Amino acid sequence: MLLPPANWLPQAPLELLQLDWLTNAGIEVAILRLDRIDPLISGNKWFKLVEHLKAADRAGAQGIISLGGAHSNHLHALAAAGKRLGFETVGLLRGHPQQTPTVEDLQAFGMQLHWLGYGGYRARHEPGFWEPWQAQFPNLHAVPEGGGGLAGALGCKVLKQQVSSQLSTLGWSDYHGWWLACGTGTTLAGLVLAEAGAHPVYGALAVPEDHGVAPQVAAIMQEAGVAAAGYERLDASRGGFAKVDEQLLEFIEITERGSGIPLEPLYTGKALLALKERIEAGGFESDTRLIFVHTGGLQGRRGFISCS
Ligand SMILES: *Cc1c(COP(=O)(O)O)cnc(C)c1O
Repeated sequence: MLLPPANWLPQAPLELLQLDWLTNAGIEVAILRLDRIDPLISGNKWFKLVEHLKAADRAGAQGIISLGGAHSNHLHALAAAGKRLGFETVGLLRGHPQQTPTVEDLQAFGMQLHWLGYGGYRARHEPGFWEPWQAQFPNLHAVPEGGGGLAGALGCKVLKQQVSSQLSTLGWSDYHGWWLACGTGTTLAGLVLAEAGAHPVYGALAVPEDHGVAPQVAAIMQEAGVAAAGYERLDASRGGFAKVDEQLLEFIEITERGSGIPLEPLYTGKALLALKERIEAGGFESDTRLIFVHTGGLQGRRGFISCS
């Protein structure tokens, strides 16, 4: 039994974001706090896992095997879910054994870890990659890196309902669109599917354009049988994935102080800074109301800050 109990539906709080540059522009932003869905599980990676868990359950699996790096938000959410909901988890890690805060949590959550080295990890897209692992763990269901694909996107559709059901608490009746950080574009694809053109989705790319977000979103839409419409990509990577500069760090510090909302520099900090830049360039009219998705990632920040 892998499915979370039916009554276990983590709700992401929706809060008004109070920042000078928004007030000055006459723009309202509500932040959907995926970083606050549960004491153990955090971020968009939980939502990306839901449909994979359902598939595992249908297949009669007893747990999940997946892969990621030593700071992986995906493996962290998976291990936390396994601990929280009581199923087995195995993580295949990139590189050689190292103790990061993330790895310590994975172990504490009871995830079994296997280090693949770098070459071994690079082979993850090769046809025979899963065979030996499936032989070793016949009762586990394999989930691709990051929980992507159509299954990952479908699990994110529920975010629209979570927003709709809380709009009135802000005194809002509607919103113009969504703004969120993208790595693979899976979460964005889920929102685009949920909206079906009703509201635009703006994807702030935390990775350079050549990382394939556009084709990945297109592939998900094609698999879902709908046209990839109603979304816009913009480069928010600031020179590359995980590249961090002084202006970004200062922005995060000022934002945390002003709003009380914690951000990390890889995704959420870059996405919000890109929104500020868009607004300052006149990209949105005053009275615009936007939903900013806090995609989580705060656990990964511990390792990042200590090694930078
Ligand atoms: C993985 C991740 C993203 C990117 O999600 P995609 O669905 O891959 O686009 C954004 N923010 C955080 C904090 C993440 O961990």
